[in-house]
Amino acid sequence: MSEAFLPFSRPSISENAIQEVVACLRSGWLATGPRVAQFTEALQRYLDAPYVLTLMSATTGLHLSLLAMQLKPGDEVITTPLTFAATLNTIVLAGGTPVLVDIDPHTLNMDLNQLEAAITPNTRVIMPVHFAGLPVDCDVLYGIAERHHLRILEDAAHAMGAEYKNKRIGSFGDTQVFSFHPTKNLTTGEGGCLATRDSVIAEAVQRLCFHGMDRQSFNRYGKTGTQDYEIVMPGFKSNMTDIQAAIGIHQLNELDAFIDRRAALAMRYQDALSDWPEWSLPVSPNYEHKHAWHIYTPLLNVAEAGMDRDQFIVAMKSKNIGIGLHYRAVHLFPYYRDTFHFKEGDFPVAENACDRIVSLPLFPAMTDAEHDRVLDVMYNLFV
Ligand SMILES: *Cc1c(COP(=O)(O)O)cnc(C)c1O
Repeated sequence: MSEAFLPFSRPSISENAIQEVVACLRSGWLATGPRVAQFTEALQRYLDAPYVLTLMSATTGLHLSLLAMQLKPGDEVITTPLTFAATLNTIVLAGGTPVLVDIDPHTLNMDLNQLEAAITPNTRVIMPVHFAGLPVDCDVLYGIAERHHLRILEDAAHAMGAEYKNKRIGSFGDTQVFSFHPTKNLTTGEGGCLATRDSVIAEAVQRLCFHGMDRQSFNRYGKTGTQDYEIVMPGFKSNMTDIQAAIGIHQLNELDAFIDRRAALAMRYQDALSDWPEWSLPVSPNYEHKHAWHIYTPLLNVAEAGMDRDQFIVAMKSKNIGIGLHYRAVHLFPYYRDTFHFKEGDFPVAENACDRIVSLPLFPAMTDAEHDRVLDVMYNLFV
């Protein structure tokens, strides 16, 4: 009975990536250098974006993008309550006020039918999350933004490789931020990148992410660079390192194959669970898209299951199966309740989903046998 612990997520790191890290360590160049340049160019080709910046994390990408958008006190940024805390945290850290719009009960993305009602004269930015890797309806979203002269910063942390109407997320629109955290579709250990079509945002984030310096140390210490630099503003330290990029270069080559396997496993769950009364399964919207399947997140039907979500997670863990939780409703965390006076009942659809949501094990190297084991254990749990 005691089979090895199956985590809900596990990165696939190829031998090529390991050898690239070793080569990087041996090269003597560990910080931002030639491998970051190579990875950034490869990302630029993959995302088909005019400006791509590699960074230490998606969190810093969101933070610096919002700083570059120069929020004034009282400026509002609209996002979703079903997201990681970093989405809201960065709004606050950049001086903005988070405003939330409830989610669509089927796609779990921001309910765009409710978006316009949340727009006020103080709204500056809309910050959608492509939840689980399912693109929001970008035509509708950008239409609303255009009518109200708002910027869009896409939290695309889940959406590396996702497509909306045959266009890759990152290849169109305003500004997108991707995460390379180890649970995400592409990892660099920790890391992230920004894609934008706005040279002003790109230049501002470039300065902010490296001390407020007008040049990168890549230029400074390289053979062709100069030792000279100017500080034009006080900046942060958010640049990606060559050690991270060494992993990323090889991850990017495998990304589409990773997503294909994730999609196959997600479809296997959809097929196997479709007639289980204990689950409400993810629903596909009717616009054309490619789902990146960062996570597979059905909602537990508590009455039919005879247990609540937290009990389900504990029961699965006792059978050596890890279950993720993405996410608890952000607006109900103490800081957000206390500071912005959010309360239970404000976003009922999201709160209901957040009480029932689980992330079943899903990662590219997961075998069919492991997948069967998850289904078996769940089957025996519910009878
Ligand atoms: C992972 C994640 C982030 C933060 O990404 P990091 O790279 O860990 O900083 C932000 N938003 C969402 C929705 C995420 O899932």
